[in-house]
Amino acid sequence: MVQKIYRVGILGATGMVGQRFVTLLSNHPWFEISTIAASPRSAGKLYAEAVKDRWSMDGSIPERIANMTLYSVIDDVDVIADEVDIVFCALAIDKDMIRDIEMMYASKNVLVVSNNSAHRWNSEVPMMIPEVNPEHSALLTAQRAQYDWHKGGIVVKPNCSIQSYLMIMQALREFKPRKVQVTSVQAVSGAGKTLTTWPEMDGNIIPYIDGEEKKSQHEPLKVLGVLDNDRIRAAEDLRIQATCLRVPISDGHTASVGISFERKPTYDEIITAIDSFNTSNVPFIEKLPSAPDKAIYYFDEQTRPQVLLDRDNGKGMAVSVGRLREGELFDWEFVSLAHNTIRGAAGGAVLTAELLVAQGFVE
Ligand code: NAP
Repeated sequence: MVQKIYRVGILGATGMVGQRFVTLLSNHPWFEISTIAASPRSAGKLYAEAVKDRWSMDGSIPERIANMTLYSVIDDVDVIADEVDIVFCALAIDKDMIRDIEMMYASKNVLVVSNNSAHRWNSEVPMMIPEVNPEHSALLTAQRAQYDWHKGGIVVKPNCSIQSYLMIMQALREFKPRKVQVTSVQAVSGAGKTLTTWPEMDGNIIPYIDGEEKKSQHEPLKVLGVLDNDRIRAAEDLRIQATCLRVPISDGHTASVGISFERKPTYDEIITAIDSFNTSNVPFIEKLPSAPDKAIYYFDEQTRPQVLLDRDNGKGMAVSVGRLREGELFDWEFVSLAHNTIRGAAGGAVLTAELLVAQGFVE
């Protein structure tokens, strides 16, 4: 069967996450970048010119994209909407503006897959990690009926820092996680910066990331929630306490996690649960081009996962976990890691869009 090619646009294509979208989508088997857009400051420029002093990805800018002209996200909505089936949203602007922009695109028959938090708490918008809650996409049907949208819609992915341990929590779901304490140490690319553009981070740690702890404490409850009559019943029996630190790492968010369960699993049960979680994801691996070879890489060595060795596991789409040990205050402790701009942002959004195509939500 010949695979249909879908036309995709990137809103915020010049930023850190936008650049990651450009690299991930340039040779994608299902998606072709038809449109790129950013602020009025960049609109009208060739992509190469707009990012010349801030291209942060490994390798050079893909040639076809380098020569594309940027549109304005807000002023050129009609033109962009005509040229795409899906837009990936990676804008860094005021939440109310993003909410309006995403609604505008959805109302013009565009499926919006967003990295932004603006719609994460909207009850009809699914917040998705494909391996964790693929069934939540059913909300899209109700959303389309509510707004009378035929092909348009809004789907969001959760915050980048919770990806690594949410995957583990899903794998251990049968033991009923009840209490979690997490400290995440987050890379500077999570703030759209590099160590060059943020020299104050060199040798430094900043003990606060605006809004991040609240997101880390609440978003997992929706992602792990149960679909019930076109609504998500949040996992209210789970409580999370989070501390989020910015550290001088370019890419890769690490988390130190303590977790207690309704029934404490044994070490062997945890390993078996991780293995069967990986096996249960085989259909994704076979069907979706961006799915990692296995969702969770587990390490026995005490010194793993390490940012430099493990953030690119599964082409940056896998999460890595190690330091699994029984705790004094919590049943189990572990350390987990995910690449924040791949699994945590652009890659996670691309995988979500692939899932929506496979589920028949994109005509
Ligand atoms: P960024 O590097 O600052 O990029 C921001 C983008 O937004 C640029 O393309 C910029 O265009 C565009 N923009 C700014 N003001 C605009 C306006 N008034 N109208 C239209 N476009 C405008 O930010 P980022 O790190 O890529 O993050 C983008 C979003 O993804 C944020 O909401 C962030 O929270 C989320 N996110 C980031 C990560 C991460 O690891 N970095 C992970 C998950 C989610 P110009 O270049 O023209 O100014």
